[in-house]
Amino acid sequence: MRIANVNGRAAVVVDGRLADVERASGGRLPSDPTALIVTLGSPEELASLPIPDDAPSLDGTRLGPPVPRPSKILAAALNYHSHAAETGQTPPDEPVLFAKLPSALAGPEDDILVPSGRGTVDWEVELVVVIGRRTKNVPAADAWSVVFGLTGGQDISDRTEQGRSVRQFTMAKSFDTYAPTGPFVVTLDEFADPDNVGVRTILDGEEMQNGRTNDLIFSVPQLIEWASRVCTLEPGDLLFTGTPPGVGLGMDPKRFLVPGVLLETEVEGVGRMSNRIVAGS
Ligand code: ZN
Repeated sequence: MRIANVNGRAAVVVDGRLADVERASGGRLPSDPTALIVTLGSPEELASLPIPDDAPSLDGTRLGPPVPRPSKILAAALNYHSHAAETGQTPPDEPVLFAKLPSALAGPEDDILVPSGRGTVDWEVELVVVIGRRTKNVPAADAWSVVFGLTGGQDISDRTEQGRSVRQFTMAKSFDTYAPTGPFVVTLDEFADPDNVGVRTILDGEEMQNGRTNDLIFSVPQLIEWASRVCTLEPGDLLFTGTPPGVGLGMDPKRFLVPGVLLETEVEGVGRMSNRIVAGS
């Protein structure tokens, strides 16, 4: 199933139409996208919902971030073998996680607001994991069982902020709108191999990044195991899994996001986001 956020209400996507979950279920399921994940636990219940005759078309409907209010967003630094090689860094011997603040979330077609004077803002396409069940201390071997689905994301990063004398991952990556996600949460059953998903960044029509998650240094289950040693993972929590080669910081000359450019993001099996860079205040 593919689940979208339409004006803050969860909808399932069926044959190019959007069925409001709360209405289609006769009020049995909640309208709030995050509450829906908490309530469902597993996505099978959605498959049996009757689709109303007047369900609107997906085409032309502006979607919000598919999980708009996660209790937390975790993200992995330096997690692709090829990205480590590109940047000349030694691959870490254990996962490196930081937080992105939920206030940074934006929808799949929202503008990304780059404040004036911020000239080193970079793209990082990432597969984003949506947790489905409350969990603590889960071993990697069981970790896929706590995942509800997958979505796409950009871990937008201010490289100047990130490179201060003491490294500032969380704040550098948590400006408002610096976490666009979507367009849908796609449940795991729709992926032939959730450990091998293609991700791409296209900037003004030019491909910048093209990677696959089978190149991850630490797999999705290993990241979940590592995170859940420390904190309880809640339904709806998001986990950004790292970015493949091709970020602007690694180019010669370096390239960054400036107002006017169009940042497109593709995650195989999920879909495409299209975010315009706009001068913010
Ligand atoms: Zn990242």
